[in-house]
Amino acid sequence: MKIGVDLDDVLADTWNETRKFLNRRFGKNLTNKDFNDFGLAKTYGVSNDEVRKAFADAFNNGLYLNAKLIKGAVSGIGRLEDGNELYIITSRPRYIEGDTYSWVEKNFPSKFKEVRFSSHTTDLKEDTEKETKAEICKELGVLLMIDDNLDNLEECARAGVKGIVLDLDGNYNWNHREREPDGVERAFSWKEIVKIAQS
Ligand SMILES: [Mg+2]
Repeated sequence: MKIGVDLDDVLADTWNETRKFLNRRFGKNLTNKDFNDFGLAKTYGVSNDEVRKAFADAFNNGLYLNAKLIKGAVSGIGRLEDGNELYIITSRPRYIEGDTYSWVEKNFPSKFKEVRFSSHTTDLKEDTEKETKAEICKELGVLLMIDDNLDNLEECARAGVKGIVLDLDGNYNWNHREREPDGVERAFSWKEIVKIAQS
């Protein structure tokens, strides 16, 4: 089976570092509990432009190149690669592509057939001309998508692609909802992701 895997906060632990960076930048001390969706500008009370600039500065500081791994991701991918074809599908903007390839090659050498860059679904509205994750899944023949963004997974599910939403240790407040969309299952760890994917 072909499986799509999101990068940020599924393989790479980028959000914790990004949040610290944004907190310093905007003089706040927000914790995960303060983020109920992906609307960062709204949560920080600043403009989209200021958030975009902050992300560019975080990039220049090597945040993406030096991102740590999400707990259990390496062994989880090691198990999923058996009998499956794996693709990274990320909505990172174009300027992070180079650092992304370097990071993936360093941390997951030869594990993924391809890295694909989709459009961005948050209020930052970057790269809107690119394909959505659902469109990329259909094009590649991906049947299962693993992501921490429920909006992406809901769109994938509508296109017939099953989803697993990662909610690491129950701390991913931004994807907490009353109930999952049809065709999407919740996992609290990489161990659970592998179990659902193999069931
Ligand atoms: Mg993500």
